[in-house]
Amino acid sequence: MVRELVFALLAVVGCSMPLEGERDCFRARGLSEAQLAVVQEAMDEWNARAGTELRTGVDCTYTIVMRDMPKAERLGEWDGETVSLRPGTTGIPEADRDILRWEALHELGHALGLGHSEQPEDVMSAYHSFQTGLTDGDVAAYRLSRSGS
Ligand SMILES: [Zn+2]
Repeated sequence: MVRELVFALLAVVGCSMPLEGERDCFRARGLSEAQLAVVQEAMDEWNARAGTELRTGVDCTYTIVMRDMPKAERLGEWDGETVSLRPGTTGIPEADRDILRWEALHELGHALGLGHSEQPEDVMSAYHSFQTGLTDGDVAAYRLSRSGS
């Protein structure tokens, strides 16, 4: 019901919205060049594997930020408007990079409308697999979510 209402509203305002104001477009705030490169890689992977059109831009509706998460176990968050990613804390650049890549893939998956996967090896697993590449299961879940709407 809420979902239908949102789509109806989008349909009404859709024609006047700027191209950048799309679901797949994110404004990056507070990311270092290296962090942004990791996020871009994650977006490119979703795009290549699942046919999405994730990108960053200055006039985007949605946002990606780096911020410290209140809980130690929380690495990232999607709140419906903003993807929050936690800066690395291991002190090992390569490990921090891998974790950030996983976080970005995972939270972007939520932003794309996906819930958690039951398969521990999937990026969309809730159990921090730190899988740094999308699995066939992740891609299938995305396709399934699109085919039903
Ligand atoms: Zn999650």
